[in-house]
Amino acid sequence: MSHSRSLALALLTTLIGSACSPGTPPASKTPQATTADRRTPVDIIVAGDYIVTMDGSGTILEDASVVIDDGLIVAIGASDKIDSQYLGDQRLAGDRRVVMPGLINGHSHAAMTLLRGVADDLALMDWLNNYIFPAEVEFVDADFVRIGTELACWEMIRGGTTTFVDMYYYPDIIAEVVESCGMRALVSATVIDQRSPDAENAVDSINKGLQYIDRWKNRSDRITPIFGPHANYTLNAEQLVATRVAADAAGVAISIHMSESPFEVQYSKDTFGMTSIEFFESIGFLDGPTIGAHVVWPTEREISILAERNVGVIHNPTSNMKIASGIAPVTAMLAAGVRVGLGTDGAASNNDLDMWEEMRLAALLQKVEQMNPEVLPASTVLKMATRGGAEAIGLDAEIGTLQVGMKADVIQVSFDDVHHIPTFDVVSHLVYVTDEQDVLSVIVDGKMLMHDRRMLTLETDRIATEARKLGSRIQSALAIRNLDPS
Ligand SMILES: [Zn+2]
Repeated sequence: MSHSRSLALALLTTLIGSACSPGTPPASKTPQATTADRRTPVDIIVAGDYIVTMDGSGTILEDASVVIDDGLIVAIGASDKIDSQYLGDQRLAGDRRVVMPGLINGHSHAAMTLLRGVADDLALMDWLNNYIFPAEVEFVDADFVRIGTELACWEMIRGGTTTFVDMYYYPDIIAEVVESCGMRALVSATVIDQRSPDAENAVDSINKGLQYIDRWKNRSDRITPIFGPHANYTLNAEQLVATRVAADAAGVAISIHMSESPFEVQYSKDTFGMTSIEFFESIGFLDGPTIGAHVVWPTEREISILAERNVGVIHNPTSNMKIASGIAPVTAMLAAGVRVGLGTDGAASNNDLDMWEEMRLAALLQKVEQMNPEVLPASTVLKMATRGGAEAIGLDAEIGTLQVGMKADVIQVSFDDVHHIPTFDVVSHLVYVTDEQDVLSVIVDGKMLMHDRRMLTLETDRIATEARKLGSRIQSALAIRNLDPS
């Protein structure tokens, strides 16, 4: 990132190096505190055969450790030197382990885990209008959102995701779940011009959104309340402008579906006389911080607008493929300087929350579309899931890289599995091989959320039981109302 950070890291590494006199015996792998121990006590030391810093230099440290204290990364360096300098309350051993920044899921509808598989293999508008919106009005209440979000957080932590950007109903409940499970999130107050589970219309959802933002604005370091106007086909120009005005007044960002499908672009042309992003620009909607989800159909001029307006774009390859929305021009956007991150979208259109799969598909989709295997290489995709995602959602000063002074959102991935033997290129394995089950430990804000695949902050059995119970209620109600696509 900044030169000052790199310099600080270099200095620190030098300091750690000089602290080791030639006579210092090699540090034990599991250091024990003694009365004579002069090492600095810290919360956690995470070791790895490889540390993938994502700091922009392409640096991958070998046999190194990340030192975490009081929520922050306080040192990174060779493991023997770190172990001679620091004593961790906890130390995660590093053999056949890769340490990297937590993954950032830039677009999700977390509670839709409870609608996973309710309606598949349909086009966006058929899927939304005839299945998802009616099912949501019918079933989504505070309890649904709590259980569905817990289920999603469980799945995301298990897969190494540490931050997500959510858009759903009952944002207070979503924020409470995030707060208690220890993840980091931007939680949107959804604005939509129809009767939704938590509001009567657009005006009502904006007013309730402002109250929610007021409640959460300074409540938690890990939760950023934002506005989530749904799209330009579920809100008119006046309502979109009103949402931007409200977001500006509250000092928060906006996340919105943008240029997702050919339907949306055609609707925008028919209704507003121009394509989606040009329309957003024409009403001043892009004047404040904006996260645009999907952006599959931008024109060349619109890509320039995204770059000029610093819009963070979230690419959702699985959802775009499944709903047949199209292939986003990711390489063109990156070349134009647009900040591009990755997201899963909701589990009803993906159908999982696996960011490793998202990375893989993002790379493969660009290659086959352009008939060029050199486009969107593994290193670029890994950046989109970490540092690039942090840039796209405006949190790059805090997360997305492993650097001294950054917040400690760190994951440790096991390379024990047979599919990692042998490993010639760590980044290649992270993008083209690794899956959720390889993630071993997850730390957010310096707190361990999963340790050796054991979930520490979510009650796995209770969530599973409640989700199954709610799932069967939805299943029988769908069958009675003949909404069940099967
Ligand atoms: Zn979405």
